[in-house]
Amino acid sequence: MKNIQGIAASSGIAIAKAYHLAAPDLTFEKVAIDNPNTEIERLDKALEISKQELEKIKAHTKKELGDEHAEIFSAHLLVLSDPELINPIKDKISSDNVMAEEALQEVADMFIDMFKNMDNEYMRERAADIQDVTKRVMAHLLGVTFPNPALIDEEVIVLANDLTPSDTAQLNRQFVKGFATDIGGRTSHSAIMARSLEIPAIVGTKEITTSVSQDQIVIVDGNEGIILIDPSDEELTTYRGKQEEFAKQKEEWAKLKEEPTFSGDGEQVELAANIGTPEDVEGVLNNGGEGVGLYRTEFLYMGKNELPTEDEQYDAYKSVLEQMGDKPVVVRTLDIGGDKELDYLDLPKELNPFLGFRAIRFCLENEYVFRPQLRALLRASVHGNLKIMFPMIATLEEFRQAKAILLDEKEALKNEGVKVSDHIEVGIMVEIPSTAVIAKQFAKEVDFFSIGTNDLIQYTMAADRMNTQVSYLYQPYHPAILNLVNNVIEAAHSENKWAGMCGEMAGDPIAIPILLGLGLDEFSMSATSVLPARTQIRGLSKKNLAANKDKMLAMGTAEEVVEFVKELTE
Ligand code: PEP
Ligand code: MG
Repeated sequence: MKNIQGIAASSGIAIAKAYHLAAPDLTFEKVAIDNPNTEIERLDKALEISKQELEKIKAHTKKELGDEHAEIFSAHLLVLSDPELINPIKDKISSDNVMAEEALQEVADMFIDMFKNMDNEYMRERAADIQDVTKRVMAHLLGVTFPNPALIDEEVIVLANDLTPSDTAQLNRQFVKGFATDIGGRTSHSAIMARSLEIPAIVGTKEITTSVSQDQIVIVDGNEGIILIDPSDEELTTYRGKQEEFAKQKEEWAKLKEEPTFSGDGEQVELAANIGTPEDVEGVLNNGGEGVGLYRTEFLYMGKNELPTEDEQYDAYKSVLEQMGDKPVVVRTLDIGGDKELDYLDLPKELNPFLGFRAIRFCLENEYVFRPQLRALLRASVHGNLKIMFPMIATLEEFRQAKAILLDEKEALKNEGVKVSDHIEVGIMVEIPSTAVIAKQFAKEVDFFSIGTNDLIQYTMAADRMNTQVSYLYQPYHPAILNLVNNVIEAAHSENKWAGMCGEMAGDPIAIPILLGLGLDEFSMSATSVLPARTQIRGLSKKNLAANKDKMLAMGTAEEVVEFVKELTE
């Protein structure tokens, strides 16, 4: 059997049966029916199976993610029992003498159209509920499998064309041993989540869903980015050996869990981790993280039907801060847009979502979304060592405006008698070249920088981070990127501020020596990369790397940089 090569997105090795998470084919041919009663019985049966499934999913979601996430399935169950939807379908079967599939589709489409066009946002959301539910019923009528990732109850490797962040959030780590997708890159958000869930993953295979069938045994080697289909006994033995080796390696790394991070020549840096939810903090502490360098708050807003309330957010931020004790926690304000969509906000579809109305641009225009988040953060600030960071800052005006709103809310809270910390650092992500270029001007006004290379690289090289066809241009070690990074670090230091990096580059073993030489203060990465990075940094001489930095910055290609750094560190 041939092997499939993809992009290694999350380390580790998994061996299990394939499970296709594909949208089912719900097309059907209209045929004449003999007996409407038989069709009504078929419909009732499909409704019943769908109800049983939804009850199970609801119970599971409640257990794993809490009441609030489970509510969406209560809404789906209500739709299934709603006589205003079900009776017209049955009437149509009897009066028009049509098959159950046809009646279901016509009536559902009619309701979906009607709700979609209503002014009321709540009603528009009902259209999505009806669509979801009727798809499930249709699948049962047609006898095709409807994938239920939350209900997987045996060990599998999930295969999909792409996984949305909310699909990824539904995966149960107990049974989902790994995943592989056709599209996506190392910095797509499903890949990032796989790393925080510590599930081996490979993305961008181009062909995994078409080359592997349901239940075939596959090996996902998330270290090398290779998938083996139907492995031989010999290959199984080899990979079980590799699994053991990897486990042993992890034990070695774990010995440095409580240690600070020093280079071989005694220079200290901070190794922090990126998180998406309060549940991820456990992984940060287990993996020796010295702080949270990026809390991506958008996951609080995703996988649900409405905006999170201020109190819900406060609870999440407080939980993270308390778990981290006095260790720093950098919380990034909402960065929606790009590959992270929020259906309930009904934002217009854009031609270039990564260059569009996202992150701080959206928040500054929608203060009803921005202000409650800032209030929640300010209220939570007394529970730990909070730093607030604004994403996608392109101009000084944006930073000033965002900071002014923050100070305004701080003032308001104080007037209400609410305690707020007076030691919150306020910084920005540097992920747009304009900001990297004038970092010196920014450094006078911000408390810190965190370089978001996932976006900075795509914007500098004009290469979409999700597009595998231009991924050859997505070059972290390109001298253009290194010069921008250097500029940001020098600017920060000239104003006695600190510069960190929270893009995936910060945990990349090839980039780490380069960044150490450029003087980066804080490296924030997937939790599982912290201990390997600490091990690596202990073997590097920061002074030697720094002494060679000008040579590196003057090089013409990424390849030359990589060669040079290899020679320096061997
Ligand atoms: C980045 O752009 O580097 C970053 C950390 O943000 P995100 O990956 O969430 O866009
Ligand atoms: Mg970004």
